Amino acid sequence: MKTKIILLFFVLTIVCIACSRNAITGRNQLSLVSESEMQKMAITQYKQFLGESKVVPKTNDNAEMVRRVGQRIARAITEYYQQKGITNDLPSYKWEFNLVESKEVNAWCMPGGKVVVYTGILPVTQNEDALAIVLGHEITHAVAGHGRERMSQEMVAQGIQVAGNVALGGNPQTLSIFNNVFGPTAQVGVLLPNSRNQEYEADHYGLIFAAIAGYNPQEAIAFWTRMMNLKQGASQTPPFLSSHPSDADRIEKLKQLMPEALTYYKPGNK
Ligand SMILES: [Zn+2]
Repeated sequence: MKTKIILLFFVLTIVCIACSRNAITGRNQLSLVSESEMQKMAITQYKQFLGESKVVPKTNDNAEMVRRVGQRIARAITEYYQQKGITNDLPSYKWEFNLVESKEVNAWCMPGGKVVVYTGILPVTQNEDALAIVLGHEITHAVAGHGRERMSQEMVAQGIQVAGNVALGGNPQTLSIFNNVFGPTAQVGVLLPNSRNQEYEADHYGLIFAAIAGYNPQEAIAFWTRMMNLKQGASQTPPFLSSHPSDADRIEKLKQLMPEALTYYKPGNK
């Protein structure tokens, strides 16, 4: 682990030619994979996942709610880019929102806007505002390039050489890293050093996007408290919670972010 961190530090400081600045967070990130490569791999894995899952029909009320909330968050992101004058950096996403039948308490968004919500999380979200908190958070992970960053870090850790525009999707080792970072059914094995930072960014901008979309950001406190209680009552930590620590520290940070998020809140936008 120590070697990994030293190597990572070396790459971050010396080879920042491989860094890119994320338009939303303004943070420089290691990016050894292009956005289009990420999206290509994501589409393949998304299709495969849906093919193996019980997708709830689009006419179902809950599936419709997932799509409705997701589309509003997507629109809010465009609005945010317009407000900040960064529309040139708007990612070219082809959004898809699906609800799958599963007891798992989980939801995720892959690069390119491929979103899945598991029915198991609905008893915890309980209402549309809390679902918007979850989707705002997950979608932020995608638009803030977190998967690409984690993947790049893991490539460095595994000593993968990247030369020019090599087609990474065809490289079995790269694909395996992608599957580890995004494995929707697997627990994320290695929590890289900055994952707490990514969680904070996802909470921060997720609240803002939910608020612009017309959902009450304050619902985040109630939702993450329910998540915390769920963890305490469970014999095994649900996968979503193992990668999303829900504790007093997160709730405290959410409270600190609330005044800013509330300035974006437009209840009439729904
Ligand atoms: Zn997260």
